[in-house]
Amino acid sequence: MIITGIRTGRVSIPLRKPFKTALRTVEVLEPVIVAVDTDTGDVGWGEAPPTGAITGDSQGSIRGAIREFIAPVLKGKRIDGLEDVLTALDRSCVKNTSAKAAVDMAVHDLFGKRYGIPLFRLLGGYRDRVETDLTISVNSPEEMARDCREAVERGFRILKIKIGKEPASDIQRIRSVRAAVGPDIVIRLDANQGWNEREAIRIMREIESAGLGIELLEQPLPAHDLEGLAAVKNAVATPILADEAVFSPLDAETLLARRAADFLNIKLMKTGGMRGAQQICAMAELHGVECFMGCMMESKLAVTAAAHLACARRIITRCDLDSPSLCASDPIRGGVVLDGPHLIMPEAPGLGIEDVDGITWD
Ligand code: MG
Repeated sequence: MIITGIRTGRVSIPLRKPFKTALRTVEVLEPVIVAVDTDTGDVGWGEAPPTGAITGDSQGSIRGAIREFIAPVLKGKRIDGLEDVLTALDRSCVKNTSAKAAVDMAVHDLFGKRYGIPLFRLLGGYRDRVETDLTISVNSPEEMARDCREAVERGFRILKIKIGKEPASDIQRIRSVRAAVGPDIVIRLDANQGWNEREAIRIMREIESAGLGIELLEQPLPAHDLEGLAAVKNAVATPILADEAVFSPLDAETLLARRAADFLNIKLMKTGGMRGAQQICAMAELHGVECFMGCMMESKLAVTAAAHLACARRIITRCDLDSPSLCASDPIRGGVVLDGPHLIMPEAPGLGIEDVDGITWD
């Protein structure tokens, strides 16, 4: 099985309601879809969402990196030489982690197809389903309480509450949400870099003394402030999850060495794909630091790839793979089966993606 070319296209997927964080508002997903073609007629599927506020990538930069840097070096490579293909991908250019992630997942899809094995089994096969949380956008306390009740009615038992946009009213948001869902629902917070060190410590101490039962706090401070993150971690009882602060395996190494976070949030769009993500898993295992598997605003295609890795590795103990559940429609045929909060793995070879409806090819 030899790579003959890489095609890119895009799809448009409306959300059920606008997705709002401290960093941005999204109403429609417009990911770049990647198809890696081979001489056997097998197609490897990949996806990269343009997430300028986090990765710096646009649709144009993703397409350009694939066309100008990645496709020329992968053409003619054999899929059974996975290490050679992934090394060439890694060395094709610096940065461009979303473009690399899309091609990396498509190559892994083909590797699974080459040997007739579902990817999660090939990479470790630790479990065959995961449970995801559901993200609640930052809005007024009343609207967030309403959204949380609706999520619980849909079967979600873990809610990720977006805060950090207006620190002054964040405690009110959390009180309102906890009152709406009762004591048994797990609540995690994501401030998306919206606080400074003093605010984070003050707000979390207040939340803790109010007994609001928060599982963890994700990325309270700007991504670069590792010293501040470690200070918050040491000053509050609530565990800290690093997200925007950890992109590459080297970032993970720095965070782990500095003990700046209790958990790491791995996303394929930050690591540049499965290979970097697995390197982070290996380091986190050595340090005994549990990992999250997260996603950007991705369709079910890229989320299926993330779920394969989450099912393969024991160190990934929590999942935030909810973006398909936030969409109003699903153009992806095959892939994970969504059953309320559960993502159930397909047993087809590779990623298990069959086709994508409504692609506009470039
Ligand atoms: Mg986050």
